[in-house]
Amino acid sequence: MIYDAYISFSREALLRVIAEQMSEKRFRHVVGVEKAALELADRYDCDPIKASLAALLHDYAKEQPDSVFLDLIDRYQLDPALKTWGNNVWHGLVGRYLITEQFGLTDEEILTAIARHTVGASDMTLLDKVIYVADYIEPGRDFPGVETARQLATEDLDKAVAFETAQTIAHLAKKGIPIHPQTLETYNAYVHFLKENK
Ligand code: GDP
Ligand code: FE
Ligand code: FE
Repeated sequence: MIYDAYISFSREALLRVIAEQMSEKRFRHVVGVEKAALELADRYDCDPIKASLAALLHDYAKEQPDSVFLDLIDRYQLDPALKTWGNNVWHGLVGRYLITEQFGLTDEEILTAIARHTVGASDMTLLDKVIYVADYIEPGRDFPGVETARQLATEDLDKAVAFETAQTIAHLAKKGIPIHPQTLETYNAYVHFLKENK
């Protein structure tokens, strides 16, 4: 994989920097997301280099302390309402700015896919969907519903997005965890796909 068009890191150097930022378990997850993303990219005709980079970097910011995200929200003058959320929401939506600072990555398509990987969006690009779904179905994932999600991902990417979002919302609601408005927007925009026979 040659990343020259987007960053000045070899694959080897990139993997080394990413591994240094996270636990071994999370690094294995990241590599699993890349594998799943490349399979989806092949199936749905998405750029494999962009899929690889977005997958490898999607959780780059996940183990950063809250202070890093609060500082980024200030420096980039992001919506102050973001401050009421936490790491789960920040590591994508705010993490994208850290990735630009650390890797010099400015490709909007890759950064948007990283930003949206947790909460989605009402108008996701093919790359956004590939990363959003790959994160959920990578080979290391094991939870109720993951086999259904894997099956849907081979049949219809929009259905996989809808299923994943519905499952995530149900899981958060059951635990009494606040649901980010962008997650609800994703649900509302995609839920109809579950009923459709294409
Ligand atoms: P991971 O980083 O690979 O673990 O996966 P994600 O980035 O998709 O999700 C991170 C965490 O955020 C998971 O525990 C999700 O259940 C949770 N999450 C997803 N959507 C929302 C949301 O709208 N609100 C909150 N509070 N958490 C969410
Ligand atoms: Fe994540
Ligand atoms: Fe992830």
